[in-house]
Amino acid sequence: MGIHHGHVLRILRDEGPQSRAELARRSKLSATTLTHVTAHLLKDGSVMESETGGLGSVGRPAQAIRLVPDAHAIAGVHIGAGAVQVTVTDLKASSKGTRFFDFDVRGADPAIIVKRASAAVTELAQEAQIETRRLLGVGISVPGPVDMARRKSLFSINVGWRDVPFAELMEQSLSMPAIVEHNVTAMALAESRYGIGRDVSALLYVYLRTGLGAGLVVDGLSFRPGGHGAVELGHIQISQNGAVCACGNTGCLETFLREDALMQAAGLTGPAPAHLLAHVEKNAAAWDVVVRHLTTALASAVNLLTPDLIVFGGHLGEAPESLFERLRIDLPPRVMPHMRDILEIQRSDFGPLAGAIGGAAVALDHFFYSGALH
Ligand SMILES: [Zn+2]
Repeated sequence: MGIHHGHVLRILRDEGPQSRAELARRSKLSATTLTHVTAHLLKDGSVMESETGGLGSVGRPAQAIRLVPDAHAIAGVHIGAGAVQVTVTDLKASSKGTRFFDFDVRGADPAIIVKRASAAVTELAQEAQIETRRLLGVGISVPGPVDMARRKSLFSINVGWRDVPFAELMEQSLSMPAIVEHNVTAMALAESRYGIGRDVSALLYVYLRTGLGAGLVVDGLSFRPGGHGAVELGHIQISQNGAVCACGNTGCLETFLREDALMQAAGLTGPAPAHLLAHVEKNAAAWDVVVRHLTTALASAVNLLTPDLIVFGGHLGEAPESLFERLRIDLPPRVMPHMRDILEIQRSDFGPLAGAIGGAAVALDHFFYSGALH
C-alpha cells in the first residue's frame, strides 16, 4: 500500500494541485485504490482537498487535492570536512531554519559531531514549532562513499574516518529513522527534485570545498554504482607528473582544485573566504591553470556521463561569472558534437545550504515519497 501513497504524493509535489480525475489519470491507479489512498492521506494531513474557484464537470464547485508541505517535516544534516550544516525543512525541502558549526578534523569523534547535530535538529524543530511526531526522520550527507544500505560512511580521505555508522548514531541520539548518503549525490538529488534541475534528465553536480566531489542523478535516480554513489571527478588525472593526491595517485584534478591549493594560489591564509575563486582570479597564471584543468576534467565527465546540466556548488557555486563564460566557450569544442547544444552549466539553487538540503531531500525520498511511513 505504501508505494501507492508515495506515488500520489510525488505527483502532487511535482505537478501541483489537481482533481481526483486528473490524479487517477496520472497515477493510473484504480478508482477504489485512489479513494482509499487519498482518504488515508487526508486523514494523515499530508494532503487537503479544497475548491479551486472553478466549476467541475457536473456543475458543482471543482475540488482539487493538494500536498500540504507543512504537514510533516524532515531534518537534513551535512557533515563536511570540518563543518556541519543542519536544517529542518517542510515536505518540499524548503528550509525552516539552519544551524552551522565547525569541528577540528584532527581526531574528530563522529559520535560527538552527531550529538551536536542532533541537538541542533531538536532546537530548530522547537523554534519552528514542529512537534516531534511530525518530524519524519533525518538524512545525513557525508563526504566519501556510503554503504549500499545507506547506513554508514565507508571512508573519507579528507577527514580520515572509516566505517562510521552515522545512521545508527543519529537514530540513537534523536530516536527517529535516519539515512546516510554521499554528500554530493545528495546535493544532486536536491537540485533534481526541488532546484534548478527539475526538468533535467541527467544532472551532474560538482562541489568544491576542502576537495572536489561530484554526484549524478539520472532520470530521477541517484547514480549509485559499484563505487557507492561517489563520482570521483576530483580524481581524474590531469598531469602524470603532478603532486601526490590524498588518494595516492598523482596529478589528480583535486591537487589543483582543493581549498588549500587555491588559498595558496590566491596568496591567502586562515579560513577560506567567501568567493574564494574571485580571489584566485586576480592571479592570472593560477586562474588559467584552474580553468584549463577544470575544463579538461569536465570534458571527460561530459563524454562519459552525458549530463544535460552541470550544477556548481561550494566555491564553484560562488565563482565569478567569468568562469562560466570561459567554460561556455572552452568546453563545447572538447565534448562530443551532440552534447554541445544540450549541455548547460549553472550555479546551485541552494547556495551554502546545498549539503543540508541534500540530506533532507534524501530523507524525504526515503521516508515520505517512497510511502515508507504510510
Ligand atoms: Zn586523487
